[in-house]
Amino acid sequence: MNIHEYQGKEVLRQYGVLVPNGKVAFTVEEAVEAAKELGTDVCVVKAQIHAGGRGKAGGVKVAKNLDEVRTYAEEILGKTLVTHQTGPEGKEVKRLLIEEGCDIQKEYYVGLVLDRATSRVTLMASEEGGTEIEEVAEKTPEKIFKEEIDPVVGLTAFQARRVAFNINIPTKLVNQAVKFMMGLYNAYIEKDCSIAEINPLVVTGDGKVMALDAKLNFDGSALYRQKEIVDMRDLEEEDTKEIEASKYDLSYIALDGNIGCMVNGAGLAMATMDIVKHYGGDPANFLDVGGGATAEKVTEAFKIILSDEHVKGIFVNIFGGIMKCDVIATGVVEAAKQVGLKVPLVVRLEGTNVELGKQILAESDVEIVAASSMADGAEKIVSLVG
Ligand code: ADP
Ligand code: MG
Repeated sequence: MNIHEYQGKEVLRQYGVLVPNGKVAFTVEEAVEAAKELGTDVCVVKAQIHAGGRGKAGGVKVAKNLDEVRTYAEEILGKTLVTHQTGPEGKEVKRLLIEEGCDIQKEYYVGLVLDRATSRVTLMASEEGGTEIEEVAEKTPEKIFKEEIDPVVGLTAFQARRVAFNINIPTKLVNQAVKFMMGLYNAYIEKDCSIAEINPLVVTGDGKVMALDAKLNFDGSALYRQKEIVDMRDLEEEDTKEIEASKYDLSYIALDGNIGCMVNGAGLAMATMDIVKHYGGDPANFLDVGGGATAEKVTEAFKIILSDEHVKGIFVNIFGGIMKCDVIATGVVEAAKQVGLKVPLVVRLEGTNVELGKQILAESDVEIVAASSMADGAEKIVSLVG
């Protein structure tokens, strides 16, 4: 789960990480009011969307007086920002962060991420802040420094200090930078983050180490114990189909293609997407209905898949292990009837009671193309969708 920059900064503040003063604004009037309250000479008007790269896309503007705050707020609120992280359709700005302007001496990058290769949280930092870290990683990987964190010991001051020196934080600010990184790490662990990225961390003219941007992502599986974080959720930033899916405990992720996939088991779902691609198709989604898919779940899954207007065909690929194939077949037929299916449907069933399942599909009055194998099914749906 994702939150906005201003919310991320609120979280970081609780852990002693220095961030500029700022206020969220939902309207132009609120923006001007917030700037008045801040009372600083320079304010920054920042678009709040769940995507980075806002600066380059015109979503971060420095205002030197209240008139400029008004002008920029009018310009950015309601605008659809297209950044390298939003996709071509962009994201509409509905909130602004009005923040005190910061006298930036130098920008750095500091991030915490779970490294799945080592199964450890890794502190990553670079002197090349402000720019995209992916670009630094590609062009000048030697400028990225990493510290693997022992889960028992946690981030040690020694490691944080080594990073601070490696990225050339001015010597007299190293202790502040260490405090910053320790605070960031504590927030990461206590709030069950999956990513905590500060780009840029800045050193200011008056000798402070601050977070000018904050991107916090949270582990969805831990949300049950993070009420404060869940309260920050902005559903308007999320895919409506994904929200609907989470209500029925379906793992659904929307993709760009036109072949809706309904599969049980995450591994099989991945393999299904691969094989659809292999035959030249493009999956419209990742969807794992889970091991104990009921007819109701299958119906909901169908509805969610079909609410995506890009979907031109559906491929059901189910392995009946815990669930028997006849139960699944009944669910698929029921669902197809209920939703008034108008696109081609290919079904491949395998596993317990498969013959009975196939019989149910064949005898139903729903138009279903049966597939004998996964490859056969993928090939069929790709050719039906064209
Ligand atoms: P994004 O990463 O989405 O582009 P950032 O929050 O990193 O957004 O802002 C982009 C750039 O704008 C920063 O690298 C920094 O140079 C500048 N900036 C952001 N916030 C402030 C601020 N409060 N004061 C001065 N400059 C800022
Ligand atoms: Mg940034």
